[in-house]
Amino acid sequence: MAIAGCGVAGLACAILLRARGLRVVIFDRLERPAPIGSGLILQPVGLRVLDAIGLGDSMRALGAPIDRLYGKSGRHVVLDVRYDALGKGAPLGLCVHRGALFETFYSAALAAGAVIDSGRNVTATSGGRLTFADGRESACFDLVIDALGMRSPLSRQPEANLAFGALWASLDWAGPFDPRALEQRYEAARKMAGVLPIGRLPADPTPKAAFFWSLRHDRCAAWVSQSLEAWKDEVRALWPATEPLLAQIASHSDLVFAAYAHRTLRSPVSRHCVHVGDAWHCTSPQLGQGANMALLDAYALALALERQDDLALALAEYARLRLWHIRLYQAASWAFTPAYQSDSLAMAWVRDRVVAPLARVWPGPPVLAGLVAGQWGWPLAALQAWAKGQSGQ
Ligand SMILES: Cc1cc2nc3c(=O)[nH]c(=O)nc-3n(C[C@H](O)[C@H](O)[C@H](O)COP(=O)(O)OP(=O)(O)OC[C@H]3O[C@@H](n4cnc5c(N)ncnc54)[C@H](O)[C@@H]3O)c2cc1C
Repeated sequence: MAIAGCGVAGLACAILLRARGLRVVIFDRLERPAPIGSGLILQPVGLRVLDAIGLGDSMRALGAPIDRLYGKSGRHVVLDVRYDALGKGAPLGLCVHRGALFETFYSAALAAGAVIDSGRNVTATSGGRLTFADGRESACFDLVIDALGMRSPLSRQPEANLAFGALWASLDWAGPFDPRALEQRYEAARKMAGVLPIGRLPADPTPKAAFFWSLRHDRCAAWVSQSLEAWKDEVRALWPATEPLLAQIASHSDLVFAAYAHRTLRSPVSRHCVHVGDAWHCTSPQLGQGANMALLDAYALALALERQDDLALALAEYARLRLWHIRLYQAASWAFTPAYQSDSLAMAWVRDRVVAPLARVWPGPPVLAGLVAGQWGWPLAALQAWAKGQSGQ
């Protein structure tokens, strides 16, 4: 199998397919594949897949568990989602440094016997071969798995970036923040700052925080030419407690701008390859589901390939197993994102005055906790029921 892309989706596929005895080669454009960005939340469903891969405990040793997502606009609490609304002892989210996630997956893929062919900029695929930017071609594979992320050249390009993205930085944990929460502060929906504990890197015991600041895509150039102090004043005005984090930011280049885009292919199976992760479906990270979805895709694809000898049937099964959950979460993300990142005063008003009060009344808390935990649509139950049915045949 050829896997194009050495991100979460590609590495998870590699580990799972190697465990099923398949030969796997991963191609990535970077000379030494590495994670881009700061940190992310692994939701309970994603953690269950990590456990199935055998990496759950390694990630728990590095990550920071959180029990809630909490956000305020002025004096109003407008986001307060607690995992324990799903029941006492319900699984928590685990926030991880992307570097820690990547190192853990990368080492596991190598240890499992995956071959990693780096410095390969993929441009196209046809007939089981990948074409690279230097004009060369790969050997021929039974299957090409597209795990090239949001801008995969093997997938349909997103029509446009979402209006808002965000500046991200990984910093040393400092300040009066709740170490077991994702905390956010808003001004309507046009300003948002967030702080997330992300645990530590494998070779460094220092606890880290991800800090992010929502920014319109078309204001990026203006932000770069603005003085850093003027921007810090804007952040301090919204959330004075961020001062110890801001003190660690010495130049614009300490922050990375992440552009977001929304795209869902109707089917993950095309004539030449099968898509997983962001190459199939990407969206804003407002609901914190992208990596979880990538892990679920990899798990479903490996199960389908294991249980079906016929490749076309296996790929059709993979699509069927994941489609419903993906559509549900892509729709939820599409609906929720403007309430947190947009210029709309009306959306912010509805969020603060209608949705937030309703969310505090039953069944609001468990419904929202289920959404955040990745459980809407019972994605794992569907996979496990199918796998059980297959082994019973
Ligand atoms: C700022 C931000 C915050 C996020 N927060 C969360 C969160 O809290 N929780 C969560 O679950 N998800 C979150 N996500 C989403 C999550 O990061 C993605 O959904 C996930 O990383 C997708 O994994 P992937 O493997 O499909 O793609 P990627 O991680 O993008 O990996 C793609 C790989 O392909 C390689 N590549 C790309 N193009 C080429 C090419 N042409 N040739 C060769 N190689 C190529 C890249 O080098 C990379 O290694 C966040 C995303 C962003 C941007």
